[in-house]
Amino acid sequence: MIETVAVNERLTLDDYEAVVHLTEAVRSLRTEALSLVPPLNGRTIWMVNSTARGGGVAEMMPRMITILRELGVRVEWVVIGSDNPDFFTLTKRLHNLIHGSGDPDLTADDRAVYDAVSRENADALRSRVRPGDLLVMHDPQPLGSGHLLRRELDVRTVFRCHIGLDESSPQTRAAWGFLKPYASSYDHAVFTAPEYIPDFLAGRTGIIRPAIDPLGHKNRDLLVPRLTGTLCSARLVVEQHPVVRTKYAEVATRLAPDGRFLPADDGGGIGLLFRPVVTQISRWDRLKGFKPLLDAFVRLKQRVDGVPATEAADRHRRRLRLVRLVLAGPDPAAVADDPEAREVLEELVTTYQALSPALQADVALVSLPMSVRKNNELIVNALQRCSSVVVQNSLREGFGLTVTEAMWKRAALLGSRACGIRQQIRDGVDGRLIHDPEDPEEIAAHLDALLENPGKRIELGQNAQRRVRDEFLVFTQVRNWLTTLAECVERWGESPIR
Ligand code: UDP
Repeated sequence: MIETVAVNERLTLDDYEAVVHLTEAVRSLRTEALSLVPPLNGRTIWMVNSTARGGGVAEMMPRMITILRELGVRVEWVVIGSDNPDFFTLTKRLHNLIHGSGDPDLTADDRAVYDAVSRENADALRSRVRPGDLLVMHDPQPLGSGHLLRRELDVRTVFRCHIGLDESSPQTRAAWGFLKPYASSYDHAVFTAPEYIPDFLAGRTGIIRPAIDPLGHKNRDLLVPRLTGTLCSARLVVEQHPVVRTKYAEVATRLAPDGRFLPADDGGGIGLLFRPVVTQISRWDRLKGFKPLLDAFVRLKQRVDGVPATEAADRHRRRLRLVRLVLAGPDPAAVADDPEAREVLEELVTTYQALSPALQADVALVSLPMSVRKNNELIVNALQRCSSVVVQNSLREGFGLTVTEAMWKRAALLGSRACGIRQQIRDGVDGRLIHDPEDPEEIAAHLDALLENPGKRIELGQNAQRRVRDEFLVFTQVRNWLTTLAECVERWGESPIR
């Protein structure tokens, strides 16, 4: 059961090149493509994964494919499927095991399910794939099909693994033990961080970082009236002067002390656009570290009394008085099938309800509408742009696109040392890193220091944007793919099947 996904992106490389701070990146990609694309002529690159919507892979694919095509590469996106729900239960389990959690006991029955579905999808793909083509299999779901096709056709295969953990445990060993027979036959593998590479793939593995689309709705520049219009349309800001609104079917809501979620501009609003704001936007997942961040914010507020009564410190005292915390995540109705998300949110609601009324006014637990993707992206964009500090206090993080997105907007970033975040933020250069994301005192001290020093925030933000431009934009990702694929072609004759 396979399905080809159509890609219809509006913008072309010329549109990107016309943006002053992207010109250089686009030009150098075009130049490099002159030598990297010809080896791929006459071949099709098959990008294969298991979903056309939702999740980071599906998010990145359309823009990447559009650019590759514009550079002259023939590339198709195919989604594999199965009628057998056990297959997806198993691959979800493998996903969790690679992240270090779950029951590591994988059985012969599990392998039988995996092999049967891999066979079905390989057969479906075989009628489309031609000798000389390259298959890029994303994550464990299509891995088995790629393994079969590599043995049966004159093709080359790349395993693109978007997940990983920077430590070895019975869980990770079980998952990789299960996947090893398939992954071993691949010509090349690509991971997000060196820490994620299992030993048996060492030596034929490269690193490609996830990347953002700088002109997508989540990351494009928003002129001030558009920014204000977005916040008012989403009811995140009280309309104090008429603005050009868009009608949003659903608006952002905020937790009220009585436990209800009401439109976020109720009762005077959060103070976005006016007050200093500390923001974290994530899924409601325990590993995102929301709770310790909330505890840290309470401690930050207590620091007001410690600020010396000097004229020089006046501004900082006022900053600490005015600062507000926004903890935002997807509308719980949109994650109704995720019991953990509900549990995490409920825990935050309980913590919030136990705060004093003054602190309740300073903390906004915000639910973002998810039904219209463009609106959700514009809201995330606007929220990040009006934050003094953006936090990502994850206990674990594969990469953390929220970090990349905020860095691109020159926000001052405070991140944990989770592996994915360490790949992006260099402490003191592009942002600050927390040693222990479960230590509210440490987080509060970092927030205090960042808020006190606007000059430092600007410096960190500028470096952060430069780092994203150089490393984490879609152009770098495309260049890395071209290099990887061209190398596979170069080594065509010398890759024996393992
Ligand atoms: N996100 C969103 N709305 C939300 C919460 C998150 O659009 O309410 C987006 C966020 O902007 C980012 C993605 O979801 O693009 C999360 O990716 P990340 O790599 O940070 O974490 P993951 O959710 O994959 O663990």
